[in-house]
Amino acid sequence: MAVRWQSEQSGHSDRLVPVTAATAAEIERADRCSAHNYSPLPVVIASGSGAWVRGIDGVDYLDVLAGYSALNFGHAHPDLVAVARDQIGTLTLTSRAFQHDRFSDFCADVARLCGKDAVLPMNTGAEAVETALKLARKWGYDVKGVPDGRAEIVTCAGNFHGRTIAVVGFSTDPDARGGFGPFPPGFRTVDYGRLDALADAITEHTVAVLVEPIQGEAGVRVPPDGYLAGVRRLCDEHGLLMLADEIQSGLGRTGDTFACDHENVVPDVYILGKALGGGILPVSAVAANRDVMDVLHPGQHGSTFGGNPLACAVGSAVVKLLETGVYQQRSRDLGRYLHELLAQLPADRVGRTRGRGLWAGIDLAPGQPSARTVCERLLARRVLAKDAHEGTIRIAPPLVIDRDDLTWAVERFADALGG
Ligand SMILES: *Cc1c(COP(=O)(O)O)cnc(C)c1O
Repeated sequence: MAVRWQSEQSGHSDRLVPVTAATAAEIERADRCSAHNYSPLPVVIASGSGAWVRGIDGVDYLDVLAGYSALNFGHAHPDLVAVARDQIGTLTLTSRAFQHDRFSDFCADVARLCGKDAVLPMNTGAEAVETALKLARKWGYDVKGVPDGRAEIVTCAGNFHGRTIAVVGFSTDPDARGGFGPFPPGFRTVDYGRLDALADAITEHTVAVLVEPIQGEAGVRVPPDGYLAGVRRLCDEHGLLMLADEIQSGLGRTGDTFACDHENVVPDVYILGKALGGGILPVSAVAANRDVMDVLHPGQHGSTFGGNPLACAVGSAVVKLLETGVYQQRSRDLGRYLHELLAQLPADRVGRTRGRGLWAGIDLAPGQPSARTVCERLLARRVLAKDAHEGTIRIAPPLVIDRDDLTWAVERFADALGG
């Protein structure tokens, strides 16, 4: 399919689509030759445009997962595709051994977006989290004067920060951590959303608090009002770095550029990923001020692909989209509408819904089928969504989705709950 911006192709047919023989065969083939670390829904996507994707079955599906917010700007956003195409034929990799002509723009653009002095580019989200942890430890030793090898970082129960050994070591999800130890020491985990628990965990060796402003994988858990401001205050009082993992919550998802903006909180370190790559390639970054960033010297941290020309070109284009404010506004407006629609769903089917902006975690009521089953029913209704936990479905459509498509998605959701 030639890339068409938005969805003249889709239409809102309410018929149920079966899993075709070709789709089943392709899934079986992938199953034979790939690791089984995922259990994808039975759909095989071949192309995408805006909020819609097309399967090898020729069916158009509305994507309300958006690559866990990596696709905030939708599939094949024309500005991003144009920049990527142009850069791909020009220069894609130099390594950081040499400077390239897209690097300074990217760092300046991300720094400006974050209101910080300096940017350290990486690739995946987990790498950016690791970078922030290393930065915080080094800062703790070099600046705060914590005795060598004793630095502690406080993390929150229910967190999701990626899949590396250090990061799963402080996960509280038995699937994420079970069987992967031993884990690096130096982390303390406290209840999310509770400032008293956080205060109790702080010692003279604490260097930082790592927090998701809204916990995405945990089912779009929004902390109590004032929590982020409270974390900021505790960090100030105790001389700690506030590390905000905005990989999923940032870049327009919640209706602001960053979820921390909602409480006018500025963390010491922003951790960005997902949508920073425009859904085209992995681009992540850490942004901080000089007093923190300058604890790193040549040879102490790096990445072969981090900050490559293609990543920088796309990342800069993403920042330009965000600087229009259009996507944050869409997220606010459509998000308000989405939460209104969700509030009208029958209480015997749907329990609590949470979220901010165009982002919702929907708890199914007791006695309802599993979230996975509901997602399978949604697939048959041409809507692609993902269960967060057993009883929770996450809705995070691309911010380019239009209002009619969003309405239709919620109607299909109501229908799927009905059986
Ligand atoms: C997705 C995610 C990560 C990990 O990003 P990867 O690119 O998958 O390594 C880290 N933190 C949060 C909050 C995320 O949502």
